[in-house]
Amino acid sequence: MRKLEGKAIVVASHNKGKIAEIVELIAPYGLDAKSAADFNLPEPAEEGTTFEENAYTKAFAAASATGLPALSDDSGLVVDALDGAPGVYTADWAEKPDGSGRDFLMAMTRVEDELKAKGASDPAQRTGRFVAVLCMAWPDGHAEYFRGEVEGTLVWPPKGDNGFGYDPVFRPDGYEQTFGEMSASEKHGWEAGRGDLGLSHRARAFARFATAMLSAQ
Ligand code: IMP
Repeated sequence: MRKLEGKAIVVASHNKGKIAEIVELIAPYGLDAKSAADFNLPEPAEEGTTFEENAYTKAFAAASATGLPALSDDSGLVVDALDGAPGVYTADWAEKPDGSGRDFLMAMTRVEDELKAKGASDPAQRTGRFVAVLCMAWPDGHAEYFRGEVEGTLVWPPKGDNGFGYDPVFRPDGYEQTFGEMSASEKHGWEAGRGDLGLSHRARAFARFATAMLSAQ
């Protein structure tokens, strides 16, 4: 990875749940992480068809507006029985029809309704993964990508109030609890002795980012 010249980076996200996780995941590396909100940056439209394209759109917009390296996260839920949906449209499925914000119970219910319509009642028919692509972009347009994924099963009804987004309906493989029932550090994989890799898609992408960053210093 290109060497970071200073400690300051911008976290190019407007999603409070994500920012909270990114700030925690970045804390061990001594970076001075400022958020897009600190700079009053507008939220760019995400029109790409891949996580990488959308991650680049967000990171490059923040890097060019601030002159600092910027780190974005584009992520989503990929459900096998729904041919990969909602995928890059994961946030869009939560948009309220009247445009007044996001409703994740509505979004999780849509996933469940579509799984039911496919007759996917058995856990083996309800597999999927969370994907996170981190993009570090510099003001000159250079960019680097780090991907993390976690496999799991879609459960119904939603369980747990922790985390954000679709966490209450996602049970990672090898665990009894959904992400919504886990503490933040369990979701990162910090409490399970998983070493440097982590558990959640975001923690895994971060592990790759951190390895690349430390070897470039
Ligand atoms: P985007 O990356 O801003 O396009 O939005 C990704 C969407 O995926 C978020 O709004 C969340 O709904 C969902 N998502 C991403 N990561 C997680 C996670 O760790 N838990 C639950 N939902 C997530």
